[in-house]
Amino acid sequence: MNILIAGGGIGGLTAALTLHQRGHAVTVLEAVREPRPLGVGINLLPHSVGVLEGLGLLPALRGMAVETSALVFANRHGQPIHRDARGVYGGYSHPQFSVHRGELQMLLWREACARLTVLSGQRVVGVRDGHVALIDTADGPREQAADLIVGADGIHSALRRRLAPDEGAPCWRGVMMWRGTTWAPPFLDGRTMVQAGHSRAKFVVYPISTPRADGLQLINWIADRRVRESAPGLTAPDRADWSRAGRLDDLLPTFGSWRFDWLDVPGLITRAEQMLEWPMVDRDPLPCWRLGPSTLLGDAAHPMVPIGSNGATQAIMDAQALADALDRHAGLDAALAAYEDKRRPLCARIVEMNRQEGLDAILDRVEALAPEGFAQLADVIDPAEVAAEVNAYKAAAGHQVKRA
Ligand SMILES: Cc1cc2nc3c(=O)[nH]c(=O)nc-3n(C[C@H](O)[C@H](O)[C@H](O)COP(=O)(O)OP(=O)(O)OC[C@H]3O[C@@H](n4cnc5c(N)ncnc54)[C@H](O)[C@@H]3O)c2cc1C
Repeated sequence: MNILIAGGGIGGLTAALTLHQRGHAVTVLEAVREPRPLGVGINLLPHSVGVLEGLGLLPALRGMAVETSALVFANRHGQPIHRDARGVYGGYSHPQFSVHRGELQMLLWREACARLTVLSGQRVVGVRDGHVALIDTADGPREQAADLIVGADGIHSALRRRLAPDEGAPCWRGVMMWRGTTWAPPFLDGRTMVQAGHSRAKFVVYPISTPRADGLQLINWIADRRVRESAPGLTAPDRADWSRAGRLDDLLPTFGSWRFDWLDVPGLITRAEQMLEWPMVDRDPLPCWRLGPSTLLGDAAHPMVPIGSNGATQAIMDAQALADALDRHAGLDAALAAYEDKRRPLCARIVEMNRQEGLDAILDRVEALAPEGFAQLADVIDPAEVAAEVNAYKAAAGHQVKRA
């Protein structure tokens, strides 16, 4: 098939490489003229790493990422609540990787440019007659026909708007995120991800590079803070303000005293190389992703609040599911229906679980019961109950069965 993919992010590029590998003629149309390694850290769960291994990218990933050993939940005093072993350390067949989003995107971009057609400076603005993409370029508008058009154009997707023209701005419930990176000494075993605090003020932190010669490691951190109470009709800050530089004054009053014996949170914040501010947003799940010979993938299909390391992972899983469905079904309609049946309910479930705070609900319970910390965790919460909750979330989010 002749396939056009709108969007050269992690989802669009993985889909392009996978569909090309299965014998399709693929063109990626990316709006940005000169893609740069934007963003900070993301996590790739083991099932998505398996997909990237299938594209021959495992050695390159190992070279640029940190193999995450565990996700540790802690209270705002730094006391551990639960340790969930991750990737091969948790018995999975593949590693979990903590990686710089922009570097991963650039890896996929280089591979896609080497294997198939990738055009930058091409913004897909609509579709005519079901199968002709309408494209804005610096040289003026143009059109390109395809057998299948895939909208992988992110949370502000133009192709999603065809399915939900009245949707408006993304949903915001009053939480802002500040994302930063800081060169700092490794903490814990140098490969652990930590989620500390509670849903009104939370600090997520993990390394995304191996230590350099001076022993420092690039540490990615995300500080979330509720700045408004959730209310119907609350709108996120203007889109022009997304990704703007954050200010220390926004964070230090809340996180300035979070000095643990294993991590200096205010030290990380004040020494950050960069600090960006984003609203924590998602969109309501759509009842359908397909319209004629077109479908959606990644954040265009199911933008979700970033809890549980699902953003990039689910986009990559979409890519594989779409390629599998096209392999298995002779007709395009049947293939797109099968793709959607496999992915849409699961992703809608994650959107909903993350709206209910996902695993952060555990942190909230501990904060409510022991705001000043605890002598013994078991006095506050049953550790077996926490483990069961973590495993239930993972199962519902599609973590795949461990190696026997
Ligand atoms: C600049 C940027 C920085 C990010 N930083 C982080 C981060 O630090 N941490 C994190 O967890 N997540 C980050 N994300 C989100 C994360 O990458 C996604 O949640 C996840 O990887 C799913 O990717 P996606 O490919 O579906 O969407 P995206 O990563 O959003 O990619 C969409 C791509 O489509 C392009 N595009 C948009 N509109 C059009 C159009 N009309 N026509 C053609 N192309 C279009 C965009 O330029 C982009 O390259 C970032 C996203 C972006 C765009």
